[in-house]
Amino acid sequence: MDKPRLFLSPPHLSGQELEFVHEAFASNYIAPLGPMVDAFEREFADVTGIPHCLAVSSGTAAMHLALRELGVGPGDEVFASTLTFIGSVSPAVFLGASPVFIDSSRETWNMDPALLAEALEDSARHGDLPKAVIPTDLYGQCADLDEILAVCAPYGIPVVTDCAESVGAIYKGRHAGVGAKAAVFSFNGNKIITTSGGGMLASADATLIEHARKLSQQARDAAPWYQHSEIGYNYRMSNILAAIGRGQLRVLHQRVEQKRAVFERYRQELSQVPGIEFMPEAPYGRSNRWLTAIIVEPELFGATPEDVRRALEAENIEARPIWKPLHLQPVFRSAKVIGGKVAEDLFRRGLCLPSGTALTEHDISRVCAIIRACRKKH
Ligand SMILES: *Cc1c(COP(=O)(O)O)cnc(C)c1O
Repeated sequence: MDKPRLFLSPPHLSGQELEFVHEAFASNYIAPLGPMVDAFEREFADVTGIPHCLAVSSGTAAMHLALRELGVGPGDEVFASTLTFIGSVSPAVFLGASPVFIDSSRETWNMDPALLAEALEDSARHGDLPKAVIPTDLYGQCADLDEILAVCAPYGIPVVTDCAESVGAIYKGRHAGVGAKAAVFSFNGNKIITTSGGGMLASADATLIEHARKLSQQARDAAPWYQHSEIGYNYRMSNILAAIGRGQLRVLHQRVEQKRAVFERYRQELSQVPGIEFMPEAPYGRSNRWLTAIIVEPELFGATPEDVRRALEAENIEARPIWKPLHLQPVFRSAKVIGGKVAEDLFRRGLCLPSGTALTEHDISRVCAIIRACRKKH
């Protein structure tokens, strides 16, 4: 391949990361924990407005700690979005609980609050309410958190938002995750900002974060020797990676604007093409447009999303189907699902386009030309 590959969402460093990494090296805190981790947590709290933050090794680890703190255990159920990544719910399974999957709404592609309300009424009738509700903020668009909180409040069910994809996104004027019992963020290499791998658990509940902090460090008691009264995990973030995170946080705002500009550019070039639609933006918020997601309607467009994906791949351009709904995953074949048709339809017709913040207008035009050319083949 002569042309460099266009990735779906590659890391985009600012240069400032290296200064913080040098500082970390100079301090010799080449360890989990250290001053960079403390500073990253403080700065992340400032950016999000969620007062208590715990930096950990991944978003999945953050979700595991959140659910453990809420007492999720064997025999419990959690209600989660079906249109999401498995890291959103695998921690519930680690803890012996079972996920029940809730379909998306057409307007937001996120957990449908009305469907959630029905599912909770039904569970209440049977006396088996879930231990937690876990809506995902899909592709950087916040779920309708206030509606979800209002539906859960009468039952006292805590909401943990999966904000792995929505760092920098806004919901009703506040940062993604504000108002939930706990929010989980990811800094994996493909996310809008990255530490190569990492995550954050954030909450307004100081006690929750304090205990999660203990669990993330092997649940060591306050004693001069190693003493343990419960079983924890080794989930802390490395001081070096927190240094990268501090550099990335300084360009978060810029990255959101770049992601949104990428989306707008695709929309300008493709919105007139019959059979192509874009992921809608809910009026209550401002998506970070982590990935530009489109719907390809084969009958109107003249090619399937998979035809488009293959045509792009032939030009060394990475595109990917929408998340395969979790209720369709082999591992969850016996799990309960409430609805499911909307997520199935989005999966069948959806496609995520290369959405890197370093894409040029020329790159995007090239991608769009290849997409448009797919029509003629049919
Ligand atoms: C990336 C992602 C996660 C998991 O984050 P990791 O840091 O990779 O463990 C969880 N949920 C969603 C929706 C994600 O996109």
